Formats: sequence, C-alpha cells, structure tokens
Amino acid sequence: MQARIDKERYMISLKRNTKGEFVEAKGRRVQKKFIYQANQTEEFRLSRGKFEDFLSCARCFYLDRVCGLVSPGTPGWALNSLTDDLLKKEFDICRDQELPHRLFTKSGFEDIVPFKHVNMDRWRDSLRHGLEFRLEGTAILLTGGIDDLWFNQKTQEVIVLDYKSQASPYPVRTRAYLDGTYHQGYKRQLEFYAFLLTKMEFKVAAVGYFYVCNADKHASGFYGQMNFEETIVPYTLDTTWIPSKLDEMLAVLNGKKPPESNPACENCAYSRERLLTESKL
Ligand code: SF4
Repeated sequence: MQARIDKERYMISLKRNTKGEFVEAKGRRVQKKFIYQANQTEEFRLSRGKFEDFLSCARCFYLDRVCGLVSPGTPGWALNSLTDDLLKKEFDICRDQELPHRLFTKSGFEDIVPFKHVNMDRWRDSLRHGLEFRLEGTAILLTGGIDDLWFNQKTQEVIVLDYKSQASPYPVRTRAYLDGTYHQGYKRQLEFYAFLLTKMEFKVAAVGYFYVCNADKHASGFYGQMNFEETIVPYTLDTTWIPSKLDEMLAVLNGKKPPESNPACENCAYSRERLLTESKL
C-alpha cells in the first residue's frame, strides 16, 4: 500500500521557484545550450545520466535533448546524498593525510589508496564538469560526475567506484548484488566512468567497486540514529559495448524523427490513456 501512495504522489510534480513559490510549468526548455541541433559544431554536453536515459528509452532522450521537452522532476534523495557526502569527507581525510581507509585493511586492499589528483573536486562536480571527453569527430562532450576514485600504487592504475546506500533486510553478497535487476544500471555507470578515464589517458583497473552502505532494518528502534553495514562489492568491468551505443545515440541525435517508445514505460501508457480519456470527456 505504501508503494502505491508514493507512486501517485510522485506523478504530481509542481514547479516552484527558488523561494519555494509555485510558478507556471512550461514543459519546455528555454536554455538553448540544452537543445541539440542536428550536426551542430558548437560543443554540446551530454552527461552519463542522459546516456543512461538514451539506453532506457531513445524516444524520451530525443524528446528531451532534441525537442527540448522537460519531463516532470523527481524528489531528491536527501539521505542517500548525505551518505555520499559523509563518505567523501571521510575519504578526503584519508587522501589528505595519506592514510589507508579503515575498510581497506579489512578488505585486504594493501596497495589501494584514495586517488590524489588536482582535478578531483572538478570531477565530482557533476553539474558543471565531471570527467570530460570530447567524442571524436563530433560536438559531443561526454561527462560523468564521480563520487570518488581510488588508486592502486602497485599497478599504478586508477580504480572506479561509486558509493551506494540502501535499506535491504538481506546482507550484501557480491553475486546477488551484481545480479539485482535495478543494479544493472549501476554496472553501466562504473563502465562509463572507466571508458571516460581511459579516453582521458588514465590507466584504469579492470575491476571497479561499489561501496555499499546497507541500513540495518532489524534494529529495535530509531533512537536518533541508523546503523549501516558497509560492504565493498567488486565488479569486473566491460566497456566494449559503449562505442556502438554511442554511435546509436549520435544517430538518434542527428535523426529527423524520434525513435519508438519503450512499451514497458508506465509514463507513456499514462499519457496515451490520459489523452484518450480526456478526448472523450
Ligand atoms: S516510453 Fe514514453 S514516457 Fe517512457 S521513457 Fe519513452 S518516450 Fe518517455
């Protein structure tokens, strides 16, 4: 029942200004820099998130990036973001003081340290920078805002990773975590970071990691705190699928018509049925 209530609430997204006041929702982008013109030569930023949108539904991607439609917003994930922020602070202390992270010793990561690089804050700034690579022969600047990077001092390789927070009643196990339906996008996320870093001429380790914080659902009460079990999940990366998908994405961007929609999408089904219903009212 709770899930149903949440779903209905998320479908109503009301636009507000920075003061929190309601403003008219136009449904269209006004800033031209977010709208791609076929075969444009001026640089056009495309984030990992937008690439993931393309993989989920090429039509919605087209309507967004080429036609300039704005899809309804979703609420932020304040608690997940807070976990990320606190982990960043913790890893930054280790980075600055060149200390091993408390979990590295436990996990047998003797040669791994948080990666120290002058651009680390820039790479974490997903809105303005992130990892950046200009796709050869195009105007597309691919970007990806990371949580962090680690470094293997022995192999001199950069390691991709992402912090993940969840509340599962089950302990985190590598195989089950990587096979999870909703974790397939997580794997693509790490692979995209590895792809960008390789293109930026870094030597990237073949294995990336998820730093998973799993809230204890079996606690006897809240008492002003939540406890998390932390698990480092290794994942062997495969970036070979990315170039062909980027080619497909470019073809969509430069195409004259939007591709087919994803038949599994509830939003499209809702829009279709709503139009039909309203036309009969
Ligand atoms: S199926 Fe429709 S609403 Fe859903 S993602 Fe695609 S275009 Fe968007």
